[in-house]
Amino acid sequence: MKSFRKELWFNVPTRRAFINITPLVEECVRESGIRDGLLLCNAMHITASVFINDDEAGLHADFERWLEQLAPEHPHRQYRHNDTGEDNADAHLKREIMGRGVVVAITDGKLDFGPWEQIFYGEFDGMRPKRVLVKIIGQ
Ligand code: ZN
Repeated sequence: MKSFRKELWFNVPTRRAFINITPLVEECVRESGIRDGLLLCNAMHITASVFINDDEAGLHADFERWLEQLAPEHPHRQYRHNDTGEDNADAHLKREIMGRGVVVAITDGKLDFGPWEQIFYGEFDGMRPKRVLVKIIGQ
């Protein structure tokens, strides 16, 4: 069995963003040389997510609006976490909703996606360097 590990770095210039990282993850699969196995991809920060969904701008606007309804950024003082001097309580909550990461099967050297599936990095507290882990096992 082969094993592959790589960190993908992001420094998103806005507080929140959704970035399609599928091409970067596909590059990891090629680099690994693994033809049949499992790929894990997860945010390494507790204010960011990795999730799978459609690459459609309207849907991303819907996610943003929905998350802001569930966990609005402002006012910062509404959150106990921000009593510590931080301002990112909403980002922790948004990450919890959108998830930590995903597992995708690799078949014939490719991500074995269903229709329209793409992998996204969800940033909820950006403007600083943050990492995503890609781990692949298989043969
Ligand atoms: Zn925090």
